[in-house]
Amino acid sequence: MAACADGVYQLVVKEPVGPVAAFTPWNFPINQAVRKCSAALAAGCSIILKGPEETPASCAALIKCYEEAGVPPGAVQLVFGIPAEISEYLIPHPTIRKVTFTGSTAVGKHLAMLAGKHMKRITMELGGHAPAIVFEDADVDKAVKLLSGAKFRNAGQVCVSPTRFLVHEKIYDQFVDGFVAAAKAVKVGSGMEKDTFMGPLANPRRVDAMQDFVADAVSKGATLRTGGKRIGNKGNFFEPTVLTDVPMEAKIMTEEPFGPIAPIARFGSFDEVVEEANRLPYGLAAYAYTKSAKTAGAIGAAFESGMVSINHHGLALPEVPFGGVKDSGFGSEGGSEAIEAYLNTKFITQAPL
Ligand code: NAD
Repeated sequence: MAACADGVYQLVVKEPVGPVAAFTPWNFPINQAVRKCSAALAAGCSIILKGPEETPASCAALIKCYEEAGVPPGAVQLVFGIPAEISEYLIPHPTIRKVTFTGSTAVGKHLAMLAGKHMKRITMELGGHAPAIVFEDADVDKAVKLLSGAKFRNAGQVCVSPTRFLVHEKIYDQFVDGFVAAAKAVKVGSGMEKDTFMGPLANPRRVDAMQDFVADAVSKGATLRTGGKRIGNKGNFFEPTVLTDVPMEAKIMTEEPFGPIAPIARFGSFDEVVEEANRLPYGLAAYAYTKSAKTAGAIGAAFESGMVSINHHGLALPEVPFGGVKDSGFGSEGGSEAIEAYLNTKFITQAPL
């Protein structure tokens, strides 16, 4: 509150936006839901969560934790059913004041349209296609280790997975040899087995999509260095795959792979690689490896991306904002921005009585 010289008071208050409708995907079933529920509750909002059909037990266990922790009955609720029926009911409902969604860009655009029609505030955490750029002065061994670990985590089914590898021509062969070796060393199998690093894809459709990405890239001139096939005939396991000299016309250089395929291409100049990084409508995460402070500073400014991580994989920590721009959505989860998403700003002014 501020008191002006003429006795007028001016007050800015933050108020909870109101009841929230939240929609979350399966790929990190608790993490995606907890980011929304905790921030909404911290801001003073109740929340109805539509959890993912693929992993319903995780969200149910989470809601139970809130209940056991003493969150008032009804403040957090969980629904399942036909997704479109739920969103078509909840989003226009006058009680709901905020819509938050994590998932694909296509569904996000549909829900944003519905929310816009009813003037509801939204947070949209959508798909990405993150450039991972390795400059000629990079620590190549470190880049191989961190980028391969990030690429094959959760079988590539991560919105901030590095997905377009752009490597300077002077260190291209060294990087590719290291990356192929790292991909071959990934142990694929059941998550219950010790040492397993990578599990299956979510459903058979994703296996078909991977096979299609590989066939398309190879038909357009890419080289398949390792992987490229389904593993066995049980489950939805797909080999950690590396494609090199992938032309930009290949489907995988434009469509989010959401699977364990690393497409690698070479570049020659800073301007060329920035243009390629910013070519797509996505703008979620971007990665770069360089030992030059000048290049690191220029990259931070040049990428059209909600998050930029240089020389490490430092995103998605609780205390930092997480979110995208362009077709990757808008709004942030994580950091103080997470709470801000559930608050309205009210201005109150009063003249002397
Ligand atoms: P998806 O959009 O198909 O589904 C996500 C969720 O939305 C599911 O639970 C589904 O039931 C629900 N849904 C689908 N249609 C709906 C409708 N009409 N109304 C209400 N709910 C509806 O996405 P997916 O394939 O499960 O997840 C992968 C996508 O999510 C990828 O594009 C990935 O990049 C993105 N993602 C983004 C983030 C982020 O934070 N930016 C995090 C994880 C995943």
